[in-house]
Amino acid sequence: MTRAAVKACALDVAQPNPFALLLIRWQRHAGRSGLPWQNTRDPYLVWLSEVMLQQTQVSSVLSYYPRFLARCPDVQALARASSDEVMALWSGLGYYSRARNLHRCAQVVVDEHGGVFPRTAEALQTLPGIGASTAAAIAAFCYGERISILDGNVRRVLSRLLAFEGDLAQQGPQRELWALAQELLPQAPEPDDMTAYTQGLMDLGATVCLRSKPLCDRCPVQPLCQAHAIGQTQRFPVKSRRLVRRFENWWLLLGRDASAQAPRFWLERRPSSGIWAGLYCPPVYADEAALRAAVPAAMQDRLETLDAVAHSLTHRELRLHPLLLDVSPERAQHLPPGQWVGAADLEARGLPAPVKLLLQALSKTV
Ligand code: SF4
Repeated sequence: MTRAAVKACALDVAQPNPFALLLIRWQRHAGRSGLPWQNTRDPYLVWLSEVMLQQTQVSSVLSYYPRFLARCPDVQALARASSDEVMALWSGLGYYSRARNLHRCAQVVVDEHGGVFPRTAEALQTLPGIGASTAAAIAAFCYGERISILDGNVRRVLSRLLAFEGDLAQQGPQRELWALAQELLPQAPEPDDMTAYTQGLMDLGATVCLRSKPLCDRCPVQPLCQAHAIGQTQRFPVKSRRLVRRFENWWLLLGRDASAQAPRFWLERRPSSGIWAGLYCPPVYADEAALRAAVPAAMQDRLETLDAVAHSLTHRELRLHPLLLDVSPERAQHLPPGQWVGAADLEARGLPAPVKLLLQALSKTV
């Protein structure tokens, strides 16, 4: 069934490929253009945008991307930046392992590749944090390599197009779909065809073949779409394992030095793995009793319970319970290990978004 569906879309090498043809034509006339990371063949710019766009809306990336580039305009500048600077530039985008890998990858490109990105998807995949789909995007956009991307959006588009029955929670069907994606590529792409095709796949997934309500009436490949033909667009992609979200409560000890003209906050650096790895954060406790046990008895009555804050991560729903403790600098030695960070320096540090908002609000209430 699926192989036949690919044939219907791709025909054979001697024929124009209807799917690729329709997609390329549509992208050039109706796809997204003018995004800051488009119209370039610079692998640094494409790579940065691809990493930022993973799990993140275009609207969020639009503000982060130019700010990041203003500070790190090329791979050499990124390699030279401190990890604190990189985390601060990423602060609020979430999925912070992306920023750590980005930094590490820049250092590898500079130290081991003379500052020049490899030119094939296969070689790009050997770099830290560059997965198969990101490598394919860089190779297709920058070097015109005839290779398909297959991120979450594209999986959705192609599984609907082909009415692909395989369970995409399993690796076997994922590989199978990727092989089919390769068969759908333009057969003999002209210069720039791979750019339009790859961008077309992205645009179709992001703006037309939407997760809950695909806009089939506006879809350029609707005549070829098997899921649409059988009226079952919602059945695809097939995925047996759904995300299981966990709920967790975190208690935060917000030490504040309100004696200075601008307040300072007592922050520790999070461990190098796990949630908010490497970011600056007030000490975290699993429950209120553990937090109170970390505060000397003489300071207990100064703890002030603030409103809880909800924060969603991919696999978890966090409920943050901040307890404020105004403390003079000389008493800081009684706090858990950490350092003072002035309110004016919060922007320059990598802080989790909800923590930054909380501390910025508290710095105005002294
Ligand atoms: Fe997606 Fe509908 Fe287009 Fe099929 S016809 S690819 S379901 S938008």
